[in-house]
Amino acid sequence: MLGEFELIRHYFAAAACARAGGEVVLGIGDDCALLQIPAGEQLAVSSDTLVAGVHFPDPCDPFLLGQRALAVAASDLAGMGATPIGFTLALTLPDADPLWLGEFARGLDAMALDCSLRLIGGDTTRGPLCLTVTVFGRVPSGQALTRAGAQIGDLLCVGGVLGEAAGALPLVLGQAKAGADVAEHLLARYWSPQPQLALGEALRSRATAALDISDGLLADCGHIAKASGVALHIERDRVPLSESLRRFAGDAEALRCALAGGDDYVLAFTLPPAELAALQDAGWPVHVIGRVAQGLGVQLLDEAGKEVAVRERGFNHFKV
Ligand code: ADP
Ligand code: MG
Repeated sequence: MLGEFELIRHYFAAAACARAGGEVVLGIGDDCALLQIPAGEQLAVSSDTLVAGVHFPDPCDPFLLGQRALAVAASDLAGMGATPIGFTLALTLPDADPLWLGEFARGLDAMALDCSLRLIGGDTTRGPLCLTVTVFGRVPSGQALTRAGAQIGDLLCVGGVLGEAAGALPLVLGQAKAGADVAEHLLARYWSPQPQLALGEALRSRATAALDISDGLLADCGHIAKASGVALHIERDRVPLSESLRRFAGDAEALRCALAGGDDYVLAFTLPPAELAALQDAGWPVHVIGRVAQGLGVQLLDEAGKEVAVRERGFNHFKV
C-alpha cells in the first residue's frame, strides 16, 4: 500500500509539470513553495473545488478528471488577463489506487503543460473524492481585467461558441447517445475545456471588463453588469452556437444551454468599439453579442430589439 509521501513523490513531485523554473524558485517538497513575482506585476490567485457527484460523475475517467480540474481553475486566470505561473492541488481520495492516480496525474500533467502552469505544492488527505486546485498568475500592476470597468457604449463579446459543455451533460451522464463524431466533440468540450489564456492576455489594456463563463452567459454577464453599474443587452440571435450542439440538442435546447448552461470556460468581455477590428484582424475569436447600456442587469433582446423573458439564468449551488 502506497504511503502519503511516496504517493506525492511518485505521482506529483515527479511529474513534468512539477519542475521548478520561471517564477517558481522552490516547488514541491518544503513547507511552502516560493514564487518570485517580477517588479511591477501583481499576483493573481484563484481556487476551484470539484466534488465527486456534484461537479463530475463518480466514477469517471481519472485522466479526464485531471485535465478538467486544472482547466476550470486555469480559466479564472484567463478571465483576469493573467499570465500563468503555477498551481497547488489539494486532493482528498478514498484510497490510493495506483491505476487511478497514474491516469489522474497524466491528465493533470497534460493540461498543466498546455497551460504553462507548474505544480508547486498541495495537500493529500483521505476521504470522499474531492479536488481543490489553486492557480497563481501574474499581471502588470493595474492591468488585470476585472468585472468592474464596462463602459456604456462598449460592445459585449464572447470568445467562442457557447453551450456545448452543458449540452454534453446527457452524454457525460450516459443518459443519451449521439453519433461518434458529435459525441466525441461535445464530450471533449465538457472534459477538456481549453482555458482562453492567450486571449485573456491579448485583452489586457483593450477590454474594459472580463470574466470566464462558468455558470452560464446570463448569470455571469450579470456579475459584470453589477460590478460595473451598467446594463448588458444581449441580442439573442448573435449568441454563437455550434452546428454539433444544434444537431444533437435542437435549436431551442442549444440556445438554453448557451444562455444558462454553464461549464463553457469561454471569456465574456466588454470592448470599446474602436478595439474590435484590430483584435479580429489579428485572428482572435471575438463574437459580438450585444452592448453595454445605461441601466441595470442583463436583458435578452429578440431580433426586433424587444426584451425576451428568461426563466433560467444559470447555476447556483445555494439557490433556494
Ligand atoms: P505539510 O505537512 O508541511 O503541509 P505535506 O506533508 O502535506 O506538507 O506535503 C509535503 C510536500 O508535498 C509539500 O511541499 C506539499 O506542498 C506537497 N504536496 C502534498 N500533496 C500534494 C499534491 N497532491 N500535489 C502536489 N504537491 C503536494
Ligand atoms: Mg499537509
